[in-house]
Amino acid sequence: MTGFRSAQSLLTVSRQILNAPMLDKTFMLEALQLSKQALPDCRPNPPVGCVLVRNQLIISRGYTQKPGAIHAEALALEKLSKPMSDVTAYVTMEPCSFVGRTPACAQSLIDSSV
Ligand SMILES: [Zn+2]
Repeated sequence: MTGFRSAQSLLTVSRQILNAPMLDKTFMLEALQLSKQALPDCRPNPPVGCVLVRNQLIISRGYTQKPGAIHAEALALEKLSKPMSDVTAYVTMEPCSFVGRTPACAQSLIDSSV
């Protein structure tokens, strides 16, 4: 008997084995993969991917939409309810800080307590 009572227990132990930097790479790679889905519709805006993580699990994803529509961070945020103080955002580009046709993503992340 291994001591693992369920697949969830095994999953929990597996996550503990992975060190934090490895997890950071994994989540960032996922965000990069997501950014590819933004193309070509996001043009001329840059393709950006965002994953939101809680307890080492991805809980929401987003990528840049068509010009004038919400950005990757906002798309990921709108799927969750506030507050998100225990959530970490992995984004492939520095979140925007300007208000144009859409709200500033940096402020939206702050307002959500991410
Ligand atoms: Zn933005």
